[in-house]
Amino acid sequence: MNKTALIAAAAFMAVSAAAASTPTVKTIAHRGYWKTEGSAQNSIRALVKADSVGCYASEFDVWLSADSVPVVNHDATFGGVCMQKAPAAECTSVTLPNGEKLPTLAAYLDSAAALPGLRLVLELKEHADRAHERLAVELCVAMIRERGLQQRTDYITFSRAAMLDFIALAPAGSRVYYLNGDMTPQELKDAGAAGLDYSLRTMQRHPEWFGQAKALGLEVNVWTVNDSADMQWCIEQGADYITTNEPELLQSIAGK
Ligand code: MG
Repeated sequence: MNKTALIAAAAFMAVSAAAASTPTVKTIAHRGYWKTEGSAQNSIRALVKADSVGCYASEFDVWLSADSVPVVNHDATFGGVCMQKAPAAECTSVTLPNGEKLPTLAAYLDSAAALPGLRLVLELKEHADRAHERLAVELCVAMIRERGLQQRTDYITFSRAAMLDFIALAPAGSRVYYLNGDMTPQELKDAGAAGLDYSLRTMQRHPEWFGQAKALGLEVNVWTVNDSADMQWCIEQGADYITTNEPELLQSIAGK
């Protein structure tokens, strides 16, 4: 090899090494970007804020009201209203800390449709009634399809049954991840999931699952990672996504 070729080869190796040592991780705003002025968890404002700072995706939580209307909130009971037991009119009468009314999923998705650069991570909460939960899966999938959001929506859930329903009902190419931490990467692969979306504590207990997932072609999302040292650890382990309440901190560490 002549001198010019040697220099070119060395340069290529340096670039390759830099690429290999700079793993990319994508930022998912947990319940939207709510730790910022005028925002609140699971508000439409938090969705817009996640988009405005260039997050890869924004996560939000869905319950099915007693009269079978999907609404967006994290807590089973919020503002004194039990989401599964109250009609939608009662759920959406609750005022969020930023002054917005608790949104229906329809209103939330209508706002998301106007933010084409943002992926959506729809978490369906585990419902007390299995038939109600199954109906919630059907309605979520239908509402995403009606708005043409299939290509940029991922589904997550703690409910193993709902995960299997999403895998069966969501259109081909949809990505479904499991949250509950009690299935191995191989079990998730066999079930047809796209990957694991596990807590930081779970992944610290099972760091071998990062490599196992990768070997199986699965993706790994870790939640809810708010500390820079923990973010760095996830990145070093090869996490594909980090779900965080501190999206701008993560972006400063990892890029968008
Ligand atoms: Mg959630």
